[in-house]
Amino acid sequence: SLPAVITIDGPSGSGKGTVAGLLASHLQWHLLDSGAIYRVLALAAVQHDVALDDEAQLEQLATALDVQFIVNEDHKQLIFLEGNDVTDKIRTETIGAQASQVAALPAVRAGLLRRQQSFRQVPGLIADGRDMGTVVFPDAPLKIFLTASAEERARRRYFQLKEKGEAVTLASLLEEIRARDERDMNRTIAPLKPAEGAVVLDSTTMTIEQVLERILSEVAVRS
Ligand code: C5P
Repeated sequence: SLPAVITIDGPSGSGKGTVAGLLASHLQWHLLDSGAIYRVLALAAVQHDVALDDEAQLEQLATALDVQFIVNEDHKQLIFLEGNDVTDKIRTETIGAQASQVAALPAVRAGLLRRQQSFRQVPGLIADGRDMGTVVFPDAPLKIFLTASAEERARRRYFQLKEKGEAVTLASLLEEIRARDERDMNRTIAPLKPAEGAVVLDSTTMTIEQVLERILSEVAVRS
């Protein structure tokens, strides 16, 4: 039988990236940050002068995408595009918005499907994204849908970016988050929504530790 997988889907800023990373190191499982793949693809498109609505060229770029995930000695996941470390470069709001643009194209999603599924290896996989439970791993025994209010997600993102020295305002972040939610939830292909049977967790008033504990208790009742 296939190795175990836990899917964690939800909107940006829900904390799923952090929770997925912590869960993967706690369980010593593999980690798939699927959003990073869409971000790397957007960056590759910009670098190769491919228009973000050129579905045929983006599909080619997606299937041939030279992306690598490497965990370093500090257990930090580094992301490489064509041999270059792009870990920090892909984390800007601009790349996030561009990623959501290319992610709306069906041929792009199809071109990245098997690559994502290949992360499912023993002893197990934590997969974080928008459609991990609905499309990529529909047979996952545990599916989590992690959400939080748009205001709280904007606030979290604001403090993250401020810490990195990026000049942003809370109001513009809230606007961007709403626009991205709108695009991710209303697209025809693989829209963001809880998978059937998903455990829906609203993290608005929860700490990361509380979310982690809650998910681990779901793991415990299933094993
Ligand atoms: O999660 P993250 O913010 O890194 O994802 C960037 C964008 O990639 C999302 O806004 C979404 O449009 C797209 N995405 C997706 N499907 C996934 C993961 C991310 O469409 N599984």
